[in-house]
Order: sequence, then structure tokens, then C-alpha cells
Amino acid sequence: MKLDHFFLPFERERVLSIHLSPNKDDDSWYWGLEKDGVYSVKSTYAMFEGAREADGGASVWKRERWLWNMLWKIAVWPRVKLFFWKLCSEPLATTDNISSRVRGESSLCYFCSSCSESCPHLFRDCGVAKWVWEGLVLEGEAEELQCGVREWIEHRWREMDASDYGKFMVGCWAIWEHHNKVVFDGVVVDPTRVVRRTNDVLHEGGGGMVGRGGRKVARVREGGNDGWCLAPEGKVKINVDAGVKEGEEVGTGAVCRDSQGALLWGLSVAREVEWESVFAEAVAVLDRLQEAASRGVREVVVESDCLQVIDALKEKRTGRSLFA
Ligand SMILES: [Zn+2]
Repeated sequence: MKLDHFFLPFERERVLSIHLSPNKDDDSWYWGLEKDGVYSVKSTYAMFEGAREADGGASVWKRERWLWNMLWKIAVWPRVKLFFWKLCSEPLATTDNISSRVRGESSLCYFCSSCSESCPHLFRDCGVAKWVWEGLVLEGEAEELQCGVREWIEHRWREMDASDYGKFMVGCWAIWEHHNKVVFDGVVVDPTRVVRRTNDVLHEGGGGMVGRGGRKVARVREGGNDGWCLAPEGKVKINVDAGVKEGEEVGTGAVCRDSQGALLWGLSVAREVEWESVFAEAVAVLDRLQEAASRGVREVVVESDCLQVIDALKEKRTGRSLFA
């Protein structure tokens, strides 16, 4: 049936609930809330009032308004806002949605291939999402909740500092952007890129960005995000990143891939320490080299977005500073 092919189940229900006229007149616009079919603001207002009553009254209405008011006040890119609004309000083209429309399509997650790819999975439960939130020092207690994505966002919103709202929004957007690059451009799944992209966008956003909230991130390597390539044959590549929440926490993480691009391992660590970002980046690299050594890996290519650390490693620089 064509309806199955083109619409999501809830859309199909709505289409099927439309009564067709027995008269064979031409199609025309008809506003269903007025007898004469002509649109009026009064009937629309009455409809929203009715929906508000049916929704459990003022408390739900208040909660909605609180979320939307907050959303529009945050100074992030309009495209990030628009995406976040969509994420809160309508189904995205995740594989579980697409597979319900198109027969024979896999519903597995493009990131981990181990679960059905729903929005709550993609942005909350997937290993890649967890990695991203840890990398951005934005893990939350609401991660354990089994709820829809909208409810999850509301919970996260409540438990996080207002200065992190922008970062959270950009993080969600960057996860989706990376997802689409994986799906359409065949890019290798790499949560460190999502973390880096989020930080780049927050930086580019400039002074008006609420999400900058005291966070300091390492300088981004020139050339941006598109330079990732496979490790040479016989070697493994480790992508390392660190995030610093000043005076509170440092998060470091890495993913390791073989020369075919297959994910070997990935991990992240949060420490309650006060390090400057370049030191955090250096520790991130050191941690991962030790990790690799403990796994018996000898030939390693390390990629970090911190030029100072890479330069220091190349020069085998020593000194008396904390960093050196
Ligand atoms: Zn997944």
C-alpha cells in the first residue's frame, strides 16, 4: 500500500482518518474547525485551549513554554536551533523510522550496528553518544532513564548548568551531522570528531554564545575536520581529545582504529582536577599511549587537535613546566 511506503505510522493514521466527500467536487482548502470551512483565529485559539485542557492543564503548558522560551534565548547558530527544535518535536530520519516506511531497510544504528536506531538510542544510549557526552564533560544522570528523546532533553536541561545549554544543543546537532556524514558520505564513525566539531562551532559562535560558559578547549588544528585518514598498513591510529571545564573537571578520551578503519577500542575518563587545556591534551595522549602499550600495540599513529602537544612529541621536548 502506497501509504505504508510514504508515511510514518502516525501520519498514516491521520491520513486514513480524513473523511472523503461523497460528492465528486474538485479538491479545495477547508478549515475543519468552522462549519463554512473558512479559517478563523477564534477557532484556532479554542483548539489550542482544548489541547491544553486535554494535556493535563496549565502545568504541561507551563513546562512547554519554559522549554521553548529557553530554547530561543540561547545564542547558537540558527541551524542548530532549528535542528534542536525538530529533535524535540518531530521524528528524524533515523533508520528505525525509515525501516518502518521502506520494507527491507535495516533498522540498525549506523554508529554501533548493534541496536535499532531510534532518536533516544542515537543521542543517549548509543556508545558513540555516551562517548561524546563524556568528551564534552556533559554526562548526566538522566542517561539511565528509559524515556522519549523529548523527555530526556527536559531532564538533561534541568540537571545541567544554564551555561551548558548551548553546548548540549550543539552536541546534539553535531551527533546528527556526523550521523549523516557516515550515512551519506561513508565517513568513518569517530566520536572524537563530534566532540571537536562541537567545540569548533561553539568557538566560531563568538561572544554571544551562552554555551561557551567558562569552557576552554584546545586550539583546533588548521585544516579543520576533514583530514582524517586511515593508519598505514600494520599500524593503528588513536584519535585523542580532551575537554576542560575550568576549575571543575577534565575529560579525556580516545578511539583506536586499525589500518582498515575498524574500531578496536574507545574509552573516556573524567577527572576532577584543575588542569589547563594543553596539559589535559598532553595527559590524554599519554594515557592512550599507555593504554595501547598495555594492549600490546607497538606501532601507533596519534592524532590530537592540540598542536603544542604534537609539536612537543615530535621534538621530544623536555623542560620544567607542568606541561613539559
Ligand atoms: Zn548505536
